[in-house]
Amino acid sequence: MSMTESCRRFTVISLFPELIQAFAEVGIVRRACERGLATINSIDPRAFTPDGRGNVDDSPYGGGPGMVMTVPPLRAAIREARDRAATRPCVAYLSPQGRRLDQALIEELTHQRDLILVAGRYEGIDERIVERDVDVEISLGDFVLSGGEIAAMAIIDAVVRLLPGALGSALSSGADSFSDNLLEYPQYTRPEIVDGQAVPAVLLSGNHAEIARWRRRESIRRTALRRPDLLENAPLSAAERQEYPGSAPTTPDRDDN
Ligand code: SAM
Repeated sequence: MSMTESCRRFTVISLFPELIQAFAEVGIVRRACERGLATINSIDPRAFTPDGRGNVDDSPYGGGPGMVMTVPPLRAAIREARDRAATRPCVAYLSPQGRRLDQALIEELTHQRDLILVAGRYEGIDERIVERDVDVEISLGDFVLSGGEIAAMAIIDAVVRLLPGALGSALSSGADSFSDNLLEYPQYTRPEIVDGQAVPAVLLSGNHAEIARWRRRESIRRTALRRPDLLENAPLSAAERQEYPGSAPTTPDRDDN
């Protein structure tokens, strides 16, 4: 299928391109690619070593355990990715030391037409790549992975599902958790009763206004219980805020000077 004007191009710099390829071949991501909404490619830094299969790592200056990815093949791979881009790309290095990934960052990234995602391995990459070639460091969370590929795939998946036309229904991502700083209400499907567990009666009532009210209440209740930190910035009515007193936005401290 031909690419649309607004097609997002993701290029992952990775020593394991087969991971990225497998990921691009399933589900919503594959469908988005088939619809011309996105392209997903990978570039292996090994291709930029003299024999095309050479060393991409070396021991760290100053000593210490493990290996570090070297500058020349990585820089050459990023340069190749830049050359393939249609617009000025954003180069992100996946790193536990980066900005923590959340839905707000994903939404920012949807505005980027060309995204180059650098996945490290070993003890990480030579800092000089971060200094000169990288625009932003992004972390999947406060834990250490063996490589950046899973973080790159998480970003691509979350960005793609926000692209208009990527999901079956245009409305499907609107109620997802974190849109509007609320967690999504609980979902149920057939059968109506399973192992003695029944679906909440309101969902079978056919009363759409009642269902919408129930979902809204459950969404707020759940967020208050599980993620009260989100609720502060959620668009709640005065009545809803009264029901959940902890949800009032905090007024910034007054500076009397
Ligand atoms: N020595 C590094 C440190 O302590 O910051 C960790 C290196 S880690 C074993 C190897 C690679 O996995 C990193 O270069 C990075 O690309 C990726 N990685 C590890 N944890 C990650 C995280 N939380 N988010 C994103 N990428 C991560």
